[in-house]
Amino acid sequence: MHEAALPALTDAHSRVVRYLRLSITDRCNLLCLYCRNGKPVHSIPHSDILRYEEMLRFVGIATRLGINKVRITGGEPFVRKGCTDFLVMLRKRWPSLDLRLTTNGTLLEPHVPLLTRLGVRAVNLSLDSFDSNGFAAITGRNMLPSVLASLDKLLAAGLRVKINVVAMRGFNDTQVDNFVHAAKTLPVDLRFIEFMPMGSGTMWGMENFWPAEEIREEVSRRARLTPIAENPLNAGPARMYALAGGKGRIGFITSMTDHFCRACNRLRLTSDGHARTCLFADKEYNMRGLLRARGITDQRILDALRRICALKPIGADILRRRIHARAVAERRMTSIGG
Ligand code: SAM
Repeated sequence: MHEAALPALTDAHSRVVRYLRLSITDRCNLLCLYCRNGKPVHSIPHSDILRYEEMLRFVGIATRLGINKVRITGGEPFVRKGCTDFLVMLRKRWPSLDLRLTTNGTLLEPHVPLLTRLGVRAVNLSLDSFDSNGFAAITGRNMLPSVLASLDKLLAAGLRVKINVVAMRGFNDTQVDNFVHAAKTLPVDLRFIEFMPMGSGTMWGMENFWPAEEIREEVSRRARLTPIAENPLNAGPARMYALAGGKGRIGFITSMTDHFCRACNRLRLTSDGHARTCLFADKEYNMRGLLRARGITDQRILDALRRICALKPIGADILRRRIHARAVAERRMTSIGG
């Protein structure tokens, strides 16, 4: 039997929350510069990580509240045992869910046929350098060939691919030729993401901040860019451009220099079961406690989610207040999910 649709999740700024980013693990097989903080990596204990059944329950509640898009992220999602079975279960229970994935692509290749069968709408591939030395310097591992093999397979399967490049001056700012070449020759959306001050103790600083406007100028010297007007209902955070003579497109996610908070429709659930209504806000809500407590009904969790989402802040205000603190949010992206 179909459960009745309920009024959607809205906040005090009249934003409607429709998109859940679900981090299924904080563990990753890479150790990227932007996630390093000079300290040994402490993974969250297994007992604190949500079990797949708990995540399915949460997704069920979220979909009743009008969430129609779910992105599986991490850590690296494919590092967690049972990730593909979980994807199968998600698709089985919610056949029309807009299901997406964010991955570093190192372990992805054998799973591409399954993603195609499941109708995964798009795969976001993090790829900060097409040069093997540059890739190893950024990620700590020499795994570029596996990522490129996954990329080939995704494209051969006809899956929609977005390549995410975290823009870092001094690390990948010499690679513009490679990025433009990729967007010209491959049918992908290649998006530069402005480096954000996430996680205390990381190397983020103005010295390695490479603003989107500068990148756009650099790219324009190599290819004619034409802005693409997107339907505001489908538009993501990236401003997209067509490249003259290109198979792909290039985009810029200006999280730092030109925020898009007014259009934000996101809710995040960390792998240890905490809801975050804004990437930049450290305020988290313990859903795991509710999901695990005896006698807590779905209705109670649903009511809690409504209250939480009503309080969704404008991240740019937090950023403005905290920008001089070096880290805007305490947790690193690997434990939030990006
Ligand atoms: N392991 C997966 C991957 O590599 O795509 C998923 C998790 S990763 C934390 C999610 C995204 O966050 C990636 O695209 C990564 O490049 C981006 N990211 C991480 N730290 C960032 C930062 N400080 N600023 C901007 N983007 C960041």
